[in-house]
Amino acid sequence: MNGPRLGSIESGGTKFVCLVGSAPDRIEDEIRFPTGEPEPTLARAVAFFEEAAVKGPLDAVGIASFGPLELRRSHPGYGRLAATPKPGWSGVDVAGTIAAALRVPVAIDTDVNGAALGEGRWGAARGRGTYVYLTVGTGIGGGAVIGGRVINGLVHTEMGHLSVPRIPGDDFPGSCPFHADCWEGMAGGEAVAARWGRPAEELSGEVLRRALHMEAVYLASGLRDIIYTTAPERIVIGGGMAVLPGLFPLLRAELARSLAGYPGLPEHAADDFVVPAALGPLAGPAGGLVLAERAAEEARHVARDGTARPSADGSGADVPPLAAGTA
Ligand code: ZN
Repeated sequence: MNGPRLGSIESGGTKFVCLVGSAPDRIEDEIRFPTGEPEPTLARAVAFFEEAAVKGPLDAVGIASFGPLELRRSHPGYGRLAATPKPGWSGVDVAGTIAAALRVPVAIDTDVNGAALGEGRWGAARGRGTYVYLTVGTGIGGGAVIGGRVINGLVHTEMGHLSVPRIPGDDFPGSCPFHADCWEGMAGGEAVAARWGRPAEELSGEVLRRALHMEAVYLASGLRDIIYTTAPERIVIGGGMAVLPGLFPLLRAELARSLAGYPGLPEHAADDFVVPAALGPLAGPAGGLVLAERAAEEARHVARDGTARPSADGSGADVPPLAAGTA
């Protein structure tokens, strides 16, 4: 196999996907299993990579994980899960556990940011340096890549909780446990199912037509704010709601209406500005490969120059080396 030999983990709330390879179409080995208790689940991932390492060393492992995650590199809790409703997982040191067991450089980011990186490298945002990836599934999540780097600051972005204007006459209270009628509270799959009494994919006829129209209006409202704050060259949308038939033409029309000609760029009106995700379920694992690649690159830089290069976490700041495995 040519090129680097990388490990990728997509750790989701319901399942883990682990693979070894260098690109989505160059996958050497892969395993999927349900997310259980932290210890046996992480042990299973470690065992997979240990077995893969028998055939040849791994350069690095990248993790695209469910959150919330502590991603401040200078923070003692870097790479750990923050308080999560998933039983037993709050505070678990996902990155540290993998790094300590495998003794390779490890990088971690959220599953959404991972998918954003994957779509940028091999998918629908390929060739774009500044873009936004949005997943509209049960909830809404978004990752913003600015100049090739994912935005992470005090926390990772939480685009699903943007505030959107309520459509006049829509009396659905909203499904977000924190804000009720935020973006995901009005337009996530859970909200849509609650508003119409059944999941979006089971709607038909006039109800489906109305549901799609409302979805397009709400999505356009949030996208407008994202466009005005991050100036993306492209917006990629994945997730279960994104595959509803006919959604994209409606969404593009509503977005044009919402932007109201300001700033009047023809690019915003083009069919290739808001596009469906291309990698499907491989976006997250592909993101893990991008993270692994960057971790390997940073480790090489550290070995050569003794200092971390700021590119790996995208902060542009002076950062300490990756949490573990690189020393
Ligand atoms: Zn919310």
